[in-house]
Amino acid sequence: MEDRLEEQVAQLAPELVPGLALDGVGDLVGLLDGIGGDGREVLRDVPGAAGLGVAQTAHDLEQAGHAALGVVDQIVAHAAVSLRGLALVLRHRPGGVQCGRALAERGASRFHAPEPATGEPMPVINSIAAEAETLTAWRRHLHAHPELLFDCVKTAAFVVEKLKSFGITEIHEGIAHTGVVAVIEGRAPGRTIGLRADMDALPMEDLSGAAHASTVPGMAHACGHDGHTVMLLAAAKYLAGTRNFAGRAALIFQPAEEGGGGGKVMVDEGIMERFDIAEVYGLHNTPGRPVGQVATAPGPLMASADEFRIEIAGRGGHGAQPQTTLDPIPAAAATAQALQTIVSRNADPLDRLVVSVTQIHAGTADNIIPETAWLGGTVRSFRPAVRDMAQARLTAIAEAQAAVYGCSAKVIYERGYPPLVNHAEQARFAAEVAREVVGERNVEGDCEPITPAEDFAYMLEARPGAYMFVGQGDTPMCHHPAYDFNDAIAPVGASLLARLVERSLPLPGGGA
Ligand SMILES: [Zn+2]
Ligand SMILES: [Zn+2]
Repeated sequence: MEDRLEEQVAQLAPELVPGLALDGVGDLVGLLDGIGGDGREVLRDVPGAAGLGVAQTAHDLEQAGHAALGVVDQIVAHAAVSLRGLALVLRHRPGGVQCGRALAERGASRFHAPEPATGEPMPVINSIAAEAETLTAWRRHLHAHPELLFDCVKTAAFVVEKLKSFGITEIHEGIAHTGVVAVIEGRAPGRTIGLRADMDALPMEDLSGAAHASTVPGMAHACGHDGHTVMLLAAAKYLAGTRNFAGRAALIFQPAEEGGGGGKVMVDEGIMERFDIAEVYGLHNTPGRPVGQVATAPGPLMASADEFRIEIAGRGGHGAQPQTTLDPIPAAAATAQALQTIVSRNADPLDRLVVSVTQIHAGTADNIIPETAWLGGTVRSFRPAVRDMAQARLTAIAEAQAAVYGCSAKVIYERGYPPLVNHAEQARFAAEVAREVVGERNVEGDCEPITPAEDFAYMLEARPGAYMFVGQGDTPMCHHPAYDFNDAIAPVGASLLARLVERSLPLPGGGA
């Protein structure tokens, strides 16, 4: 049999790579022969066999112990479209470097997986990356049909249809109006890991200019939640097809992240208890970070977003007779000034806090002292204690300043999303899994927090877990009208989510 293999590969190799070294062919034969012994294991987790359908050929073989020839056929067929995958496999075999290099040169331009800035291969899950074109088609369909807030009706229907096609039977719809939770049982009992994706779009025009641009005026997937939905679908398909974990995966498709707090509504409706979720993970694409780079950190990662309005009541009158009035304007001006001391005098200099007065309104004419004035603004913080302090000081300062001028102040402080705080153990674990998925040098395990808010924070208040950023390269920022999700990172995010489940819930004995 080995002779036949050698002959077949020797014939095919020159077609693939002119000038392929003969000893490289020998190595290839050795490798392929080994696959015949236990095809599923040999290639499945070869580092660097990044997502090109090559290893998947072996992965899919149900009958271990044979099929070397079939594998050759399939590998060569796959290699014709993804030579670099074969090259990456070979690189990790003795003597395979030369052969691999030639293949890599030939195949690099046809490589689907992202090309990281570091040049380090990203060993994303092969079967997921092999579906990159399908994932792109799904994502572009969702992008063309955005929905807002809790009205993710068609998006949820799309999700459910796909989940059913993967053979997933436990699907719960209508949570938080259009949210969906699906459960995949592993091969043995164990804990439940929650994976969350948001599904909603933004109320803005899509100026991406893409062929798949929004077909709905005034709505655009400008935050990439279409991509997040597809990442979780791809992870679901892989997990449902392999089930190499002991426990359950709960897939959480959430509406209304962009305002509305769909994450909070899902938690309030009891998904953590109902599905017995032990830990939760989520991620967000990140423009400006290298393609496929994963970043996370223990502790605060994203800010809370609170809004305030301070209504100052005085007594109006003639602009020429101020002595008969209680002028709210000096009170408003003094309040705006005094609020700056919350950051400069009350907060620990090592804490991050923003207090911005962004509106002051009073008066109607130059000769009238108004009856009232109001100020508005926003408070951003990263720690619950700092947030509490800011709210308390803001209220006290506003009331006291108004009183100084004989006026009164009513403070309306509306808490938006809380700070997103990663749990230390789960954040470290997520970074560890990410290193396995995208390579050591493509992971930043202790990144700086950012000031946007994210309602996954509510899920992290309810359960331990972690949130991650996945770089999508040099594209317009999220919420920019020209933004579009980078389809190249869908297999990365999907692999990360799937591996989080497999590594959190290892099967007894370590394998399938
Ligand atoms: Zn957004
Ligand atoms: Zn977003």
